[in-house]
Amino acid sequence: MFRSLTIAALFVQLSAKLVITVTDSGIEKLIAAAWQARENAYCPYSGFAVGAAVLTESGQIYSGCNVENASYGLTICAERASLFQAVAQGERRFTAVAVVTETELPTPPCGACRQVLLEFAPDARVVCLNRRRDIVEYTVRDLLPGAFSAENLRDR
Ligand SMILES: [Zn+2]
Repeated sequence: MFRSLTIAALFVQLSAKLVITVTDSGIEKLIAAAWQARENAYCPYSGFAVGAAVLTESGQIYSGCNVENASYGLTICAERASLFQAVAQGERRFTAVAVVTETELPTPPCGACRQVLLEFAPDARVVCLNRRRDIVEYTVRDLLPGAFSAENLRDR
């Protein structure tokens, strides 16, 4: 069991574009905000608490958590919750997203969140980590190759 987890962790690291050691203070603040938001995750059905935070070009941080619903399909992920908070405050440009979970391996954004992040932050860093500080970093574009975007609507 231990061996297979180790191999799985290695695969995640190899499949990411870059494995980083987080050192810059902006990203550390972003990660701290994501952990703080995770404390408020509303996940009575899955028990899978997620925290996320987005960093704007101007240096502001907005955070969010997953919010589940008895109808399941109306659940919103932490990544979108944080991004929508920022957009509601007039923010449109982002440089980084942090996603934190208490999992064996860092958790990347789901497909829906990748699409929403692409709308506002195609080149943003996506830093995913767990409590042990296993860190995997992507860009939004890395996570959604061949994406549908506003460019496609201009082709009509
Ligand atoms: Zn999601």
